[in-house]
Amino acid sequence: MLRAIVEEAAAAGAPAGSERQLVGDFYASGMDEAATDAAGLSPAARELDLVEGIAEHAGLTRAIAALQPHEMRPGFSPFVRPDPRDSSTNRLHLQQGGLGLPDRDYYLREDETSRSLLAAYEEHVARTLALAGSAASEARERAALVVRFETRLARASMTRVDQRDPYKVANTMGLPELALRAEGFDWAGYLTALGLAGIEAVNPRQPDFFAELARATRDVAADEWRVYLRWHVLRAWSPYLAKPFADEHFDFFGRRLLGQKEEKPRWERVVEVIDDGRRSVGEALGRLYVERVFPPEAKTRLREMVEYLRAALADRIRELDWLGPTTKESALEKLAAFTVKVGYPDRWHDRAGLRIGRSSYLGNVRATQRFEFAYELRKLGAPVDRTEWGMTPPTVNAYYNPSFNEIVFPAGILRPPFFDVHADDASNYGAIGVVIGHEMSHGFDDSGSQYDAQGNLRNWWSAEDRASYDARTGRMVEQFDAYEPLPGSHINGKLTLGENIGDLGGVRIAYAAFQRALAASARPEPIDGLSAEQRFFIAHAQVWRSIIRDEALLVRLLTDPHSPARYRANGPLSNMSEFHDAFRCAAGSPMCRPAAQRPVIW
Ligand SMILES: [Zn+2]
Repeated sequence: MLRAIVEEAAAAGAPAGSERQLVGDFYASGMDEAATDAAGLSPAARELDLVEGIAEHAGLTRAIAALQPHEMRPGFSPFVRPDPRDSSTNRLHLQQGGLGLPDRDYYLREDETSRSLLAAYEEHVARTLALAGSAASEARERAALVVRFETRLARASMTRVDQRDPYKVANTMGLPELALRAEGFDWAGYLTALGLAGIEAVNPRQPDFFAELARATRDVAADEWRVYLRWHVLRAWSPYLAKPFADEHFDFFGRRLLGQKEEKPRWERVVEVIDDGRRSVGEALGRLYVERVFPPEAKTRLREMVEYLRAALADRIRELDWLGPTTKESALEKLAAFTVKVGYPDRWHDRAGLRIGRSSYLGNVRATQRFEFAYELRKLGAPVDRTEWGMTPPTVNAYYNPSFNEIVFPAGILRPPFFDVHADDASNYGAIGVVIGHEMSHGFDDSGSQYDAQGNLRNWWSAEDRASYDARTGRMVEQFDAYEPLPGSHINGKLTLGENIGDLGGVRIAYAAFQRALAASARPEPIDGLSAEQRFFIAHAQVWRSIIRDEALLVRLLTDPHSPARYRANGPLSNMSEFHDAFRCAAGSPMCRPAAQRPVIW
């Protein structure tokens, strides 16, 4: 579907600046392999020259600021979101970064698999530097330096589990305090380079990391910074460069890290870049997409289901025996305040001034990222815009945003196997219904439950209720910690807790809403010998059908806050007596956890 849209857009002589022109020319430039190959390394010259020019501290600060629109992870990344404690004020957040591998653990673990992966990474860095002109021995030395420096940053990085604690990453402070806590980095110069000289406060999400990074800007020599940043420019741009760079990039990040046997076809990769969410022209593609595939009745039907689920969850909250009356009241207030976005934004984001042409693929990626970065920074000082979306319309996913207290369902997920306007309630509630319930539950998971109805980080729980909640979620941590998807590699129950709460809550709430919907009309006959309840659970399980290679699974186990698909299907159902009844699972069977071990939360 997306392929047909981009190809059609590329064929049409669309008016300059229109969605069709942006998407079509972007796609055409990405598909022009001959031009990309002929250009060699030259499209990356702008950033490589910038890095070569770093001679002193001020130059380093400016270079870091100039590379940040491109997510080259030059130490850290800035982004603009509401302040965690004041959702009506936009704030500049600083996120730790600087690593080429997906997590700090890859640098710090001592086991054989991790050691050999780190060694393979170092070789990949060396080969890439050599492709870009370094002599072999120099490239090896430089790669060792890169790994040493990244290991230092990894050691100072906050773990993913800690980053899930919203209080640990809510550290808004004035610039004088930042200058004190992360001494040595020219923060004023940095903000001036971003065009933000006037701002008074920022949120460094991981203060200890920034203290270490600031030290490194003083005690690491300029020539070492140049090596490190050169590598990150090459890493970020390689997928858009000539074949030798793109192949080398895939060889490590695809083949070695994820176990991929071959690369996706080029058209698919280019479409993914166009629809890459943040800092892409994905919303322009999304506009073309919804014109074609999104039936208006899908919006109505989904909103109807959301209200059934909202009512079902409200009932469950009222009936909970472990939650006191005042906490209950706040929970109900929060639930009632959820806003719902379906399909695509009411207001499309303005891309006037963004110029996309057919001559350079990397040039288009760069122009788009710079445009979107500048757009994001301009939000500082402007009122928070609650109409904005965090995903593009074709995305097959959904989200809960705690600052807006909203649940959002892009058009891409409102299609089979998740949703079908012509399907019956059992399959829709079992699939998209569970997704709706999952996103609602995020408002009440271990992290989301710490935000109030207005999207502010504020405690609305009594101490006693919070303690009961923690005991219940602790049982869920135990359940998932025990799963071992690969020999010796378990699910991290704390890392995945929020998603697991969402999954269990999702099935429970969707099931309750489904029962309400059933009660409102005549009971359906079995289909293919399966009762409505059985079909609900089958629809849920079908959503999770997937295959994954062991290498990719291992990366997920370390980095992904979601449990692997199989456990997202089976984990919640093994806790539900409704499922056991529907399929007559006997006590003691694998899908029937002993009642005393089942987490019961929402
Ligand atoms: Zn989720």
